[in-house]
Amino acid sequence: MSTTRRRPSRSRVTVARARMDPPRLPTLCARGAPPLEDEPTRSVVPPVYPSTTYARDAEHTLPLIAGARAPLCYARPDNPSVRACERALCALEGGSDCAMFSSGMAAVTAVLEGWYRLDAPSGRRRALVPTDGYFAVRAHILDWCAVRGVETVMYAPDVRSELPGTFWYPTKAEPLRKVLEELAQAAARVGDACPTLLWIEPTANPTWDVVDVSNALCDTKVAEKLGIYTCVDATVLTPICCQPLKAFPYCNVVMHSATKYLNGHSDVVAGALVTRTEDDTWNAILHNRKLSGATMGSFDAYLLARGMRTLDVRVRRQSETAMYIAEYFEANKEHIGPRAGCVRVLYPGYSNPSHNHELACRICPHGLFGGMLSIVFTVDILPPEDQNLQNLSALCQKFAVSCPNWTCATSLGGFESLIEHRYSVECTPGDETPHIPVGLLRLSVGLEDRHDLLQGLLSGIRTVCGYA
Ligand code: PLP
Repeated sequence: MSTTRRRPSRSRVTVARARMDPPRLPTLCARGAPPLEDEPTRSVVPPVYPSTTYARDAEHTLPLIAGARAPLCYARPDNPSVRACERALCALEGGSDCAMFSSGMAAVTAVLEGWYRLDAPSGRRRALVPTDGYFAVRAHILDWCAVRGVETVMYAPDVRSELPGTFWYPTKAEPLRKVLEELAQAAARVGDACPTLLWIEPTANPTWDVVDVSNALCDTKVAEKLGIYTCVDATVLTPICCQPLKAFPYCNVVMHSATKYLNGHSDVVAGALVTRTEDDTWNAILHNRKLSGATMGSFDAYLLARGMRTLDVRVRRQSETAMYIAEYFEANKEHIGPRAGCVRVLYPGYSNPSHNHELACRICPHGLFGGMLSIVFTVDILPPEDQNLQNLSALCQKFAVSCPNWTCATSLGGFESLIEHRYSVECTPGDETPHIPVGLLRLSVGLEDRHDLLQGLLSGIRTVCGYA
């Protein structure tokens, strides 16, 4: 009998020597941040640290734990439960540091305050603000800038959805690309560069019209020349659909309302920022959080860390269901409601050229476009003699509370499907020139069965149109 040992096959050697790939997004979500090394119990779930303060040892030294920014002194700036959340999101976004806040709006404020500390030799500062997108962020930035004498320039999405018969009067402005070209020309002519904050919401809530972020700044040099600091609000897309720090070289910081998809269970209000580099602006942002006190509590951090573990599966499922609903409405638009074409669907994942799909594909490289979409009723859903703004608004309100399997409530990104008539929320009653379509219903798709959700919407349409 031969004693020669058989050599392992070539492919097995290759497999054995193959280096591990860096963990992919589903793995990063499921495993969360690496456990803190001082954790003696090796608990799989990071413990909640409710303590507001930390004892010094016999040498009068404060505890320094792995992964913390500084020795633990006081819970307003330093809490290990919050830090575990920050490290988990930092890994998901591919940033160099992350800070959690008490709300998304607190995170927005921290960006404004941190950016304001940048040197402005000419004394001028400027903010580029989207005409479309979450209305409270826009209102806050415009108000904040007005109080501080910061110039504001508005820009519009690259392609606006065309929605005749919906009483929509969108703010007029050039798209970002054009605004930047003009700024670059002015900078070349008269040296007009000054610290400029660029706020981007890549798919604008609630029409989901897309800002061409991939082309807007071309490369970091343009941003540097113009003195631009860019913040991308990635609340709706989440890192599962788009990681702005990886996708756009000029993006400086990513912002999230963690209240939404990151937590995903509608039981935490929180915000987050993830920075590309720990530069002066980032240090100013951290300083602002510490002194303004917009910190997250440890129990919220525990819930948020728990929610983020399932982010990948939730957002995948929600994106697929949103696509299913969008495709159904688009394919059947001639047959839904009393007249052909009285219902439109807005979803950046749907390959309808007028609705920005090409641009969205550049932003969302994995073919997932998120769980948010809108359906829009035109005035033709009403009998010809009743077709006016007030009646369309009333019909939408009735529809929003008439869809089984959908809850009529504000917010988005939770496990439960929500529907909301945004005109009723964002505009004063009777506003005859609203900045959003009166007939628009915003849908946040949850985790329910997709057929049940679709049937719920169709049932709502039957109810408001008077057929049982
Ligand atoms: N950004 C977007 C896109 C949002 O939808 C929201 C809230 O709805 C915010 C920011 C503000 O976040 P928060 O409500 O957590 O303060």
